[in-house]
Amino acid sequence: HTLIWMPTIASAMNFSKELTKRGCNLLSDGRPIIGLSLINLAETVFSVEPRALIVPAHIWTPWFSVYGKMGGFESLEEAFGEFANRIYAVETGLSSSPDMNWLIKELDSRAIISFSDAHSGAKLGREATVFEIDERENDEHKIKKQDERMITYEDIVEALKQASLESRALKVGVEDRTSKIEKSNPLSATNPLPPSSMLHLPAFIAYTIEFYPEEGKYHHTGHRDCSVRLTPQETVTKGTTCPVCGKPLTQGVMQRVEELATRIQNSEFRIQNEIKLLYNKEYPSRPPFVMLVPLKEIISEAIGSPVASSKTQLYYEKLVSQFGGEFNVLLHADLPEITKYSTAEISDGVRKVRIGDIVIDPGYDGVFGVVKIWKSDKERALVDTSKEQLGLF
Ligand SMILES: [Zn+2]
Ligand SMILES: [Zn+2]
Repeated sequence: HTLIWMPTIASAMNFSKELTKRGCNLLSDGRPIIGLSLINLAETVFSVEPRALIVPAHIWTPWFSVYGKMGGFESLEEAFGEFANRIYAVETGLSSSPDMNWLIKELDSRAIISFSDAHSGAKLGREATVFEIDERENDEHKIKKQDERMITYEDIVEALKQASLESRALKVGVEDRTSKIEKSNPLSATNPLPPSSMLHLPAFIAYTIEFYPEEGKYHHTGHRDCSVRLTPQETVTKGTTCPVCGKPLTQGVMQRVEELATRIQNSEFRIQNEIKLLYNKEYPSRPPFVMLVPLKEIISEAIGSPVASSKTQLYYEKLVSQFGGEFNVLLHADLPEITKYSTAEISDGVRKVRIGDIVIDPGYDGVFGVVKIWKSDKERALVDTSKEQLGLF
């Protein structure tokens, strides 16, 4: 799966025409399968529009992805040939988190971003990339303060190219990056404008919003029919054949990452404003990321009702409309306020997700991983419901 971004509608239309001319049926599906190699695709894209962006999507899923075990490649060089140096970013998808991608050397010069496949309306925007732009209008030599300058195509290109610039020059040290994030991060209390004496500040990626990759269907290696699941370490000693039926195991994303990685994982994290923001000192130019659990899953576990139930849906709608979107509930809303509009358990679930105090049973061979916010019923019973009671008076 490949994301192609065009700066104008006219370029997008020209590109569609060009693909159709080459025999691609773009009307077959929302995600049409076109019979072109990545090299041919890139050649077509850049011949139509040199300013276009190509971003490989959910790069680790076993099928239809650039590093995928089934039909993927060992490197971007191999996949895109001479066009590899025009790939400025890769998209992590649900099956990997940024820190997994930091282990791959050829990604040092690429931004690692996060979006969602457009599979269903409710899941649009489930993962996201937060761009930070200079909100002042740069008008000749004067800089005017604009409250709501819209993000532009050029801002996005600039932010994505930051990764390659920074990796080449390595001029942003840990301290610089940290202060840059603190200044601009909407998660931090203050969000000041840069000094007006400065000219244009380049756009950059403030952070990305991720779900736990363990929740994905192919995190660990295993065999669904035999309920066999192995960590990458276990595959080293136990091999990749199912110990129950003797068939080959389906390789998980973690094992695939370790196959291509040249480094060892060493994630550190810090907590800022009650939210666990993950970053690693060894990769100072990498933006941090937050790990979340979908709000419906939190509500479902808190109230003991299925994700698709009308009861879960009711609390979801109430919270999302009250706080202006799911990300606001998960990241910004005050916990007592969440209790006021739902229950103390739901509020406590959001708190636990924010600090990463949860456990996940990893997915394997097509079986989704399962999130457990409360390790036991006993732990959940300890939730202080006094605040909930107060809401009644
Ligand atoms: Zn896709
Ligand atoms: Zn088996």
